[in-house]
Amino acid sequence: MLDSLQDGLRSAFKTLRGQGRLTESNMREGLKMVENALLEADVSYSVVKDFMKDVSDKAVGQDVLKSLKPEQQLVGIVQQALIDILGGDSDPALHLKPDVTVLMMCGLQGAGKTTTCGKLARLIGQEGKKALLVAADLQRPAAVQQLHIVGESVNTQVYSEEGASDPIAVCQNAVKHARDNGIDVVILDTAGRLAIDEELMNQLKTIDLKVQPDQVYLVVDGMTGQDAVNSAKAFNDALELDGVMMTKLDGDARGGALLSVKHVTGVPIKFIGVSEHMDGLEPFHPDRMASRILGMGDILSMFELAQREFDQEQVQKTQERLQKGQFTLDDFRKQLNQIARPGLMQKMLGLMPGMGELGKLLQGGDHEKEMRRLGGMIDSMTPDERANPKLIDNSRRQRIAKGSGVSPQEVNEMLKQFDSMATMMKGMAGGGMTGAMDMMRK
Ligand code: GDP
Repeated sequence: MLDSLQDGLRSAFKTLRGQGRLTESNMREGLKMVENALLEADVSYSVVKDFMKDVSDKAVGQDVLKSLKPEQQLVGIVQQALIDILGGDSDPALHLKPDVTVLMMCGLQGAGKTTTCGKLARLIGQEGKKALLVAADLQRPAAVQQLHIVGESVNTQVYSEEGASDPIAVCQNAVKHARDNGIDVVILDTAGRLAIDEELMNQLKTIDLKVQPDQVYLVVDGMTGQDAVNSAKAFNDALELDGVMMTKLDGDARGGALLSVKHVTGVPIKFIGVSEHMDGLEPFHPDRMASRILGMGDILSMFELAQREFDQEQVQKTQERLQKGQFTLDDFRKQLNQIARPGLMQKMLGLMPGMGELGKLLQGGDHEKEMRRLGGMIDSMTPDERANPKLIDNSRRQRIAKGSGVSPQEVNEMLKQFDSMATMMKGMAGGGMTGAMDMMRK
């Protein structure tokens, strides 16, 4: 994510590496490079100017701490400035009401609105709440059909009216349907256009007025840079947005939109789209994103992702076993099953400090296949061998290799991987979250 911005900032910090003291001239050089990295990431000029002023003020005001190297000092200052520009302590909670909460989703065609509606419904479902998707885009005939497909893929009911031509009536009827049927959250998928025009804005304003949604969100394409910022401005002027959901940050997005939108419009980013799959929506936290941009990883998001995506009963069982100092190949096998899902492992790696590079390497490789290969070897073992891998001698190794279509060396490799994983897992079980972080820093 935001690779070129990350690289640019990294080179800026590198200029200060190995220098003993923070001086005005080496700081100036570092700052110039930070500025260039931001401009190259397509952050708007006025935002860069404000950002650099903030960074310079902080840098000048700061005592040169003897304990910190100049590089660390600049990283710290840039980190705080990034957090501020990304929205400070704004939080992504949806603040649902006890009865029905109505969310209105707007956006230009192709921004990812319908996809994001589905992802959001999925997250709401995971919280144990019932969502209803409403097909209020009557402009494109295929839109209603598309929402039905999305709804089905996330197990969420879709409300649509055949042959309807008035989106306002559809929204009003849908809200009534939700009240009568114990739905918690109504998500209105409104019409988009290729560009902002008066007719679209008038339609959205009328829905806003007549249906009175509790919250209005704009979905913007993070790859479109300053266009995304401009459309956020226009939509906010017309609708007073509660938040922005920025999509496609998994691609080649340079980061300009991400860094500019809050500063330019005052509207916070609430969620970000990080994959085209339905599990690719993340709550947005400025502090965690700043750490990610600076390559420090985002441990909290990784744990939350694991919590959302893994079978919690299974996790609980593994934890209990780990606390007793047990982690067997059977547990390893179950974990492989959980993680061997399209895109999941890459996402986890992307959030781990220092793992960005490894994630990139894996992008080309077929790691789901790799997981299946590892799983196949474990499947070829007897229950006794799984409980106690020390039993695996040469002849057993030959048998397992034959059974799973690999070489005996591969079986050995896998057992070694299992061994180091077991050590890490036991470390995590002992120290909880802090233990896990310590393990990852090593
Ligand atoms: P709409 O016209 O705004 O409703 O846009 P769609 O929901 O139809 O999305 C347009 C395209 O963007 C589709 O191909 C989606 O799969 C893709 N898309 C949406 N969000 C993301 C995202 O976060 N990452 C990626 N890679 N693709 C996305």
